[in-house]
Amino acid sequence: MKKQALQVENISFSYSGKLALDSVSFDVKSGDCTFLLGPNGAGKSTLFSLITRLYDYRQGKISICGFDVKKQTTKALAKLGVVFQQPTLDLDLNVMQNLRYHSALHGISRKKARHRIQEELERFNMYERRFEKIRQLNGGHRRRVEIARALLHEPSLLLLDEPTVGLDVPSRKSIVAHVHQLVAERNLAVLWASHLIDEIYPADNLVILHQGKVAAKGSIEKVLKVAQASSIAEAFQLLTPSGVAA
Ligand code: ADP
Ligand code: MG
Repeated sequence: MKKQALQVENISFSYSGKLALDSVSFDVKSGDCTFLLGPNGAGKSTLFSLITRLYDYRQGKISICGFDVKKQTTKALAKLGVVFQQPTLDLDLNVMQNLRYHSALHGISRKKARHRIQEELERFNMYERRFEKIRQLNGGHRRRVEIARALLHEPSLLLLDEPTVGLDVPSRKSIVAHVHQLVAERNLAVLWASHLIDEIYPADNLVILHQGKVAAKGSIEKVLKVAQASSIAEAFQLLTPSGVAA
C-alpha cells in the first residue's frame, strides 16, 4: 500500500472573519502527483501557508508523513520541500550560493551538499550555470533552481504553488516533465497548485477547489464522473463557475 505523504483533515481558515477555506479534506500518497486546481482566490496559497505552518489553524489537522504539523512541526517540515508562488531566491547570489545556504539551513554537511547540489542541478541541465547570479537567469531557469533547492534535503512531499505561471512554453514543458519524472523515479509525493490544466498527466490526481471548498477530488476519471464532464477543462468550468480554465 502507498504511504500517506500529506493528510489534510477538515481544515477551515478565515482572514479577519472572511472564510478562505471551508472544511477542506484530502490526502496525497507517496508516488502521487496531485493537482490542486482552482481559479484565482480559490484558497490554494492559503492552504500552502497552513501546510508550511506560516499560518495557524484552529480546527482540523494537517499531517506530513504521519507527523502532525502543529504538534511535531520540526519533524513534519523536515519531510517537506516547497516552491512558493512568489520567487524567494537571492538575486545577487549565484546559483551555488543560494543552494549552499539552503543546505546549511537544513543541516546538510558541505560535502553532502556539494554532491546533492550537483545531482539536482544536473538533472535540470543547470549545473553548468552554477556560478551565474540569479539576476542573470531568465524566469524558467530561476524556477528550475528553486525546484532543485526544494529537493536538496530529499523531502517526501513537494509543494509547488503555480511554479510555471508566466513562463515560456518550453520552460513550462520542461518543468512539468521533470516533476512528473521525479514522482515516478523517487516515489515523491507532489501537491501542485495550478489553474493550467494542460500541465496535468493522465495518472495525476485532482483536488478542485472553489471558493475555499473542495468541489471534487480523486482520479481524473472520478472527477469527470462527479462533474458529468468529458474533459478536465469542462469539469473545471462546471465545478468552478466563475473560474476561467487556461
Ligand atoms: P489562490 O492562491 O487560490 O489564488 P488565495 O489563498 O491567495 O487564493 O486567496 C484566497 C482568498 O483569501 C481570496 O479571497 C483572497 O482575497 C483572500 N486572501 C488571501 N490572502 C489574504 C490576506 N493576507 N489577507 C486577507 N485576505 C486574503
Ligand atoms: Mg495563489
